[in-house]
Amino acid sequence: MQRLERTRSGRRTEAQHGLSARELRETLDEVGICTWSLDPANGRVAISENCHAILGVSARRLTDHDAFQAVVHPEDRAGRAAAVRGALEHGGRYNIEYRVCQADGAIRWVRSHGRAELGRGTRPTRFRGIVYCIDAHRRAEARLQRLQADLIHVSRLSAMGEMASALAHELNQPLGAISNYTTACDHFLSEPGNEQIEAARSALAAAARQAQRAGGIIRRLRDFVTRGETDRRSESVAGLLEDACDLALVGSRAQGVETRIDPGPPGIRVLADRVQIQQVLVNLIRNACEAMRDSACRNLAIVAAAQDDGSVCISVSDTGPGVAEAVAESLFLPFVTTKSTGMGVGLSVSRSIVQAHGGTFRVDSPATGGATFHFTLPAAED
Ligand code: ADP
Repeated sequence: MQRLERTRSGRRTEAQHGLSARELRETLDEVGICTWSLDPANGRVAISENCHAILGVSARRLTDHDAFQAVVHPEDRAGRAAAVRGALEHGGRYNIEYRVCQADGAIRWVRSHGRAELGRGTRPTRFRGIVYCIDAHRRAEARLQRLQADLIHVSRLSAMGEMASALAHELNQPLGAISNYTTACDHFLSEPGNEQIEAARSALAAAARQAQRAGGIIRRLRDFVTRGETDRRSESVAGLLEDACDLALVGSRAQGVETRIDPGPPGIRVLADRVQIQQVLVNLIRNACEAMRDSACRNLAIVAAAQDDGSVCISVSDTGPGVAEAVAESLFLPFVTTKSTGMGVGLSVSRSIVQAHGGTFRVDSPATGGATFHFTLPAAED
């Protein structure tokens, strides 16, 4: 439709925001994407000028496959060669990561997407792709792994606190990359042509991978919290509530929070991993206290009750403003937060823990106001 409009009027409409080849190249340069093509007939490579910033070699030197291989880290050459060979022999795409060695001895990680199109026969007619640097992401991953290894040695609760700030930092990188890729996509799609659509697809795929990476960071946090042998035993509900409150209510009295704890009938017990359920209670109690910060009335109630179905329900209620409408639907998804410094992982991690115990997790908005979070655990004998 847009094309027709353009042909008729002979000029670009405002809505098209068409990109010239130069603008397209500049956009790719801006987001750090290097494009290349290889002519299967003579093996010659043409590569964009920004390859110097990414691969550390000028476009003049990267004239063929061998010249390209020479900058690849020796340990990664065979993998790259196999990917290229596979695409050339059978057509199709590849998507690989490898290291490049720069003249000054520095090593950088890059990701490369290639696509070979087969002609009528079995011989490829076109072979092209993109390369971009993922060095910062790789370093961030390595740092995250080191961080996790260190955190194993500290208690889970303080680890959660430390991890939160480190993760917020780590998450900025994939989120920044997603923003760059989608901006580039917007440019490509404003004047759809085969090449632009292909480039937009690659940028979208890269954005999706970054989103998965961000999700992966959260998954790792969840793994950390729920990792290892879960040590489920028969635990006294009164003892669980008492311990969790000791941890979570530090300083709450000074904030004017009135707390009521009702552990239910005497001797009531659940089958639970004590540390993990404390983690859930601490998350809920801290959220409740934070929610009531600006409320005139600050009442917190932590109540346990035996259910007919053989489970025990534990509820945490507050007199805050209740769950904001904007997040009500997606409350248990990671990253959902209304707090300026929030991570939005507490509820998603808590729900995973409860579900792993075979329980359920839900939130209520009582008519009297505030929010009530309920979770169930299987009841246990002595
Ligand atoms: P975070 O506390 O880092 O935001 P959570 O997953 O624990 O992460 O909570 C997600 C969001 O759920 C909060 O940002 C807040 O908007 C909402 N929420 C959680 N608990 C309460 C509560 N007791 N009252 C009102 N809103 C709440």
